[in-house]
Amino acid sequence: MKDIITVNNLTKYFKAYGKADTAAVNNVSFTLHEGETLALVGESGSGKSTIARLLTGLIKATDGNIRIYDKDICKMKRNKALELYGQIQMVFQNPAESFNPRKTLGYGIGEPLRNRGYNSAAIANKVAELLEMCGLPAELAFKYPHQVSGGQCQRAAIARALAVEPKILICDEATSSLDVTVQKQIIELLDKLRKSKNLSIIFICHNLALVQQFCNRVVVLYDGQIVEQGTPDEIINNPQAEYTKLLVDSIL
Ligand code: ADP
Ligand code: MG
Repeated sequence: MKDIITVNNLTKYFKAYGKADTAAVNNVSFTLHEGETLALVGESGSGKSTIARLLTGLIKATDGNIRIYDKDICKMKRNKALELYGQIQMVFQNPAESFNPRKTLGYGIGEPLRNRGYNSAAIANKVAELLEMCGLPAELAFKYPHQVSGGQCQRAAIARALAVEPKILICDEATSSLDVTVQKQIIELLDKLRKSKNLSIIFICHNLALVQQFCNRVVVLYDGQIVEQGTPDEIINNPQAEYTKLLVDSIL
């Protein structure tokens, strides 16, 4: 299996005024294989979103390296790295925040294409294709974010993320604000897209039960460090770290 992202000894310190700097991410190493869904699990403040921001180039690492397709993005010039960052798209917790409330969802989904200079006919075609791919009716393109359900809006956010045909999707708590039944529909959609588009997915979540349903491997984070990693079954049936045991107890 090909490695798409390899993270080695990644560390991120944030400046803390008046006290010692704190490590939000501390010496973290993991690999994302092509075509798999890798879960990053951990309580709030454990460093999950910081890892996502490091992977997408929004912030710079203090130490360590991130290889995407064998290229170390931490050492690359910004304009060269941008091409690689284009292969990675994100989906966030609150789908409505991904869209301008004053613009239709179709406009929002097509925005990344407009930025790349596509003409309006090409954008309309692609938006229609993306809506269908994400299980949404064509007329959703003409609705505003507040006119659709949370689940539909998250599907639209996924459609938008896929507009530029990324190879990697990072979902940061993308199901956390949704009802349980809708969460399940969203992970089914992600799993379908993973297979049909050969996507590799990093699924950030604090719900181990959900992770067990569709992730291939799990990285457990606590206080910026990896406490263990393995398949969902290994983690759930035989947790090693104290924190993982607590996490497993919470779903049994
Ligand atoms: P998670 O996504 O797992 O909830 P985060 O990655 O958001 O965790 O945060 C990890 C730690 O880093 C937390 O202690 C948080 O307060 C701190 N942190 C995150 N972003 C910043 C920032 N821009 N400046 C200072 N501290 C930050
Ligand atoms: Mg977070």
